[in-house]
Amino acid sequence: MTFKAEYIWIDGTAPTAKLRSKTKILAGDAQGAQLPLWGFDGSSTNQAEGHFSDLVLKPVFSCPDPIRGGGDILVMCEVLNTDMTPHRSNTRAALAEVAEKFAAQEPIFGIEQEYTFFDGMRPLGFPEGGFPAPQGGYYCGVGADEIFGRDVVEAHLDNCLKAGLGISGINAEVMPGQWEFQVGPLSPLEVSDQLWVARWLLYRTAEDFNVSATLDPKPVKGDWNGAGAHTNFSTKAMREGYDAIITACESLGEGSKPLDHVKNYGAGIDDRLTGAHETAPWDEYSYGVADRGASVRIPWQVERDRKGYIEDRRPNANVDPYVVTRLLTDTCCAALEK
Ligand code: ADP
Ligand code: MN
Ligand code: MN
Ligand code: MN
Ligand code: MN
Repeated sequence: MTFKAEYIWIDGTAPTAKLRSKTKILAGDAQGAQLPLWGFDGSSTNQAEGHFSDLVLKPVFSCPDPIRGGGDILVMCEVLNTDMTPHRSNTRAALAEVAEKFAAQEPIFGIEQEYTFFDGMRPLGFPEGGFPAPQGGYYCGVGADEIFGRDVVEAHLDNCLKAGLGISGINAEVMPGQWEFQVGPLSPLEVSDQLWVARWLLYRTAEDFNVSATLDPKPVKGDWNGAGAHTNFSTKAMREGYDAIITACESLGEGSKPLDHVKNYGAGIDDRLTGAHETAPWDEYSYGVADRGASVRIPWQVERDRKGYIEDRRPNANVDPYVVTRLLTDTCCAALEK
């Protein structure tokens, strides 16, 4: 008996890495199987030079493959050099260290992944050679005049659920063809591994509908919303009291922190964080209750309950979840430890 294991990894494409995958046939049963290391040609993925191109895939998370079904699986991998050190494109290794360091604070994350479907060169729902009606009716809309791609979105949601991912919801977004799904709340490594797999499933599901999906943070210039990845965050102390919520918000504004974060929140961040379209300007840090124009929002229920979580609204849709969860854990947990 054999099963198919789809090994997925993150490549070295700049400024935004892409997902790659290939299939390994393994003997036996996926349940409880020890998943072997594998290799690939790093010179074809912007990860190595041709004269020394072998890189190593190390499985870090696996789940049922909802597309192939049966006993087949998806395998999220990290990329190592042949001496088993993390490759320079591997951002997971640094998160693993920070997550371990602050594990006692029990940080958890929920990430809202926005994205846009494209039909060739145009966002799905944009008429040939022109623009649709201005924004206003599309967000959480219903009806064929407002909604484009729901069949793909539903198929992707079902695939995430069949894979057992911690997906927590979906909604139509502000621009036609733009959607969102949320993953979490989960620990830093779990939410990041599962968000990468959910992204892979998005591209793979859309492929069968002849539609492409993009995490481009500003897919249409002008008066159209960009695509973000609002990152919701809490520690045990924040889930128990409001002082910790304020400490976390303040820590993100200290010294060089605003810039340290923003410059690692996805390529093209200044195109999206303009101060318009429900964003704060990229170079001005602010936080506020129920404020969708702030860098960091404290949801209104959190102020009322005097406990809960905060929402960092700055990350771009194309952010690396291993990086944003590392930065938030590092900055906020260090401040909360004092
Ligand atoms: P919005 O109102 O900003 O659109 P969403 O409902 O899309 O919010 O997303 C909120 C996210 O916050 C969800 O992924 C949810 O799982 C997550 N979340 C809820 N509670 C917490 C918490 N205590 N810590 C971290 N994340 C949380
Ligand atoms: Mn080959
Ligand atoms: Mn949302
Ligand atoms: Mn949204
Ligand atoms: Mn949000």
